Amino acid sequence: MSDMHRLLPCRAGRDKMRVMTIWPAPLRYAVDFALPPRCPGCGCVQASADAFCQSCWAQIVFLAAPWCSLCGLPFEHEVPGEPLCGACLADPPRYDLLRSAVSYGGLSADLVLKLKYSRGLGAARMMAGHMARLLPDPPKDLLVTPVPLHWTRLFARTYNQSVLIGAALARRLDRPFHPALLRRTRRTPPLRGLGAKARARAVQGAFALSERQRERVEGRALLLVDDVHTSGATSAACAALLKRRGARWVGVVAWARVL
Ligand SMILES: [Zn+2]
Ligand SMILES: [Zn+2]
Repeated sequence: MSDMHRLLPCRAGRDKMRVMTIWPAPLRYAVDFALPPRCPGCGCVQASADAFCQSCWAQIVFLAAPWCSLCGLPFEHEVPGEPLCGACLADPPRYDLLRSAVSYGGLSADLVLKLKYSRGLGAARMMAGHMARLLPDPPKDLLVTPVPLHWTRLFARTYNQSVLIGAALARRLDRPFHPALLRRTRRTPPLRGLGAKARARAVQGAFALSERQRERVEGRALLLVDDVHTSGATSAACAALLKRRGARWVGVVAWARVL
């Protein structure tokens, strides 16, 4: 079975997917508007837009406290105060806060694929809604920006899925959004299977911030938006660069975390 059919099992969902892929953007928005709201997980017709149906909701593992106060790694038991996980204690990350909405796998992973290959705006809005809850009191001067893709990937895919999520999240948080603050200067190899040190080496120097953008960053709070948080090497490299360029606070928020 193809990925696309696995993601959208019902016929109506597949028809909509065909429309989304073939038609130009303005027509797609018109179609989104005209068709009834659907569950972003399975495509079944729903009463309200951007929300899971009951059976999809039951399949998603939402992350919540008790967790590491810095990186949001879930703990099995309540720990008093502002507890840190072993990894954050041993090697404090360069970001000031990391949060992820759900555990990666099954339906939450399917949604990431769907967003990557079909520009599912409903899925992006739904993800942003769950991510916004992780930042109940965002800094006043917060600027939201995505983790960048290399231009060769952008060229192949035509858009960065983290831009879609980031734009929806910025709207939810009522903070400005910059779609391309950071640039990826070279393609990085797949990080899967590499150890922590090799991952850090692979992304070292892979990101840049232009002189013009530097003014936006100095003394400011930044929020990096990612679709999936895997090892953290990419967001750590972006956070380190922003801190070197004078950012006051750097947070990272992802839809899903590989646990
Ligand atoms: Zn569903
Ligand atoms: Zn931690």
